Amino acid sequence: MSKAPRLGLLLGDQLSFDLDLLRALDPARDVLLMAEVEDETRYVPHHPRKIILVLSAMRHFAQALRERGWRVEYVTLEAPGNSGSIVGELRRWQKKLKAGEVHVTECGEWRLEQRMRDCDLPMVWHRDRRFLCSREAFARWAEGRNNLRMENFYHGMRKRNRLLLEPDGGPAGGAWNYDHDNRKPLPRKVHGPFTASFKADAITRDVIDLVRERFTDHYGNVEGFDYPVTHADAEALWRHFLDHGLAAFGDYQDAMAEGEPYLFHARISAALNIGLLDVRQLCEDVERAWRHKQVPLNAAEGFIRQLIGWREYVRGIYWLRMPEYAQLNFLGNRRPLPEFYWDGQTDMRCMAQVIGQTLELGYAHHIQRLMVTGNFALLAGIAPPQICDWYLAVYMDAYDWVELPNTLGMVMHADGGYLGSKPYCASGKYIQRMSDHCGNCAYRVDHAVEEDGCPFNALYWHFLMRHRQVFSGNPRMALLYGNLDRMKAARREALWARGEALLARLDAGERL
Ligand code: FAD
Ligand code: SF4
Repeated sequence: MSKAPRLGLLLGDQLSFDLDLLRALDPARDVLLMAEVEDETRYVPHHPRKIILVLSAMRHFAQALRERGWRVEYVTLEAPGNSGSIVGELRRWQKKLKAGEVHVTECGEWRLEQRMRDCDLPMVWHRDRRFLCSREAFARWAEGRNNLRMENFYHGMRKRNRLLLEPDGGPAGGAWNYDHDNRKPLPRKVHGPFTASFKADAITRDVIDLVRERFTDHYGNVEGFDYPVTHADAEALWRHFLDHGLAAFGDYQDAMAEGEPYLFHARISAALNIGLLDVRQLCEDVERAWRHKQVPLNAAEGFIRQLIGWREYVRGIYWLRMPEYAQLNFLGNRRPLPEFYWDGQTDMRCMAQVIGQTLELGYAHHIQRLMVTGNFALLAGIAPPQICDWYLAVYMDAYDWVELPNTLGMVMHADGGYLGSKPYCASGKYIQRMSDHCGNCAYRVDHAVEEDGCPFNALYWHFLMRHRQVFSGNPRMALLYGNLDRMKAARREALWARGEALLARLDAGERL
């Protein structure tokens, strides 16, 4: 008598041939399940481009697995009998196939993993080896430490993974971090390279039609979808960046420019997060480019730090601290998210540009997310769950494990400072230095208390004043409070009054 098949689940962000689950199962005996389910497409109003990417990449991956000899049961969103949830589909298919064990990989998101762990199926869990630092290894690193700074974690990751090291084991070039070289504004005549663009095939066109019809209530533009949906195309996007973007990535990592959504950024996060790229390979390619003198060290180190430092670190924090982490609100913020986050209709040019680009492409680079839309939410005291849900909804690369620590922790300082010893707050001056937005703005960046004063300016000082008790003892904030205290009392009062007026306008539902 033949043995009962085992059922292996592949989620939409687990599209990798290297999963342990695939090694544990046998194509001759076992069945893989891939299911498009309503629950996963709607728990926030995901950007339509994200839904297109995930569904199309799933369909392509199912095809590739079949070509490798696997039996794949693929449930489309509109298939009759689709239960609408991952657990529902696992139950349905286990019963239907009379399967024995159900093999699954650790989930990216706590929400889904909890549901799967709570169900009564005979689950066999596999570690997600696409990450270089396991949840357990991160917990071991964190244990007994007074503070969980990314920088310390990152040094350990460089050593353990033998990346950018001198023969004696020290850091390449003598320093672990070249961030001080990576803050240049973009010179007028410098432009980012055009990003690689990928034509939609028949599978993707079908998915685009489905999404166009079915997700009309989600924010964001469907037209012109040109993102890779296969491993081969994701690799081509990566090669394009290596050849044209990486060398200048370090220098202009923090710069923003109108009409240049990608500048010298890789645009790979959405592909990487679903398994179309492999982080080890990316790091090795970057190191090789530096050793062959194709790119400078500040670019290679800066890029590797994002991948094995920040990316692995935020995942570690997420799994260490969930589910309590999502409830944190260190600064006690309560203000609802302004409506203009969903349509970009604001006179603040920087905000209108970043939100507009986000709704158009489902993409903004790190500094746009951190220092424009994020900075505004911090200064305006937006309730963390509302701004977190916004970031989860509008980006193609958004998954709770990476979005939440970045938004709740790095942007909103709602965890009290795991991700930064001080909040990333800034006035309009920062945006003026790093972008070309202010010249086209209805507000004046050199004004603060006047009616036409840049809202970031008064809100910045208002933020410092209203949180003085919390931050004034922080040595990294001493300079800022020194500046505030050196102001004439009348100036401080005027800044407070203007800040109050701006916040009152937000509370009244007005657009700034
Ligand atoms: P590049 O600038 O070219 O960087 C290379 C890679 O490094 C990225 O692809 C990404 O994988 C990794 N990386 C860089 N910074 C971070 C970081 N802070 N955390 C984790 N990985 C990082 N990234 C996501 O993948 N998903 C999210 O949902 C997400 N939400 C964010 C929310 C906020 C408020 C902020 C400030 C950042 C968020 N990030 C998120 C991190 C970062 O903004 C994006 O990874 C990056 O902009 C993706 O574009 P890119 O591929 O061109 O990145
Ligand atoms: Fe943004 Fe202020 Fe500059 Fe306008 S003036 S673009 S609101 S920073």
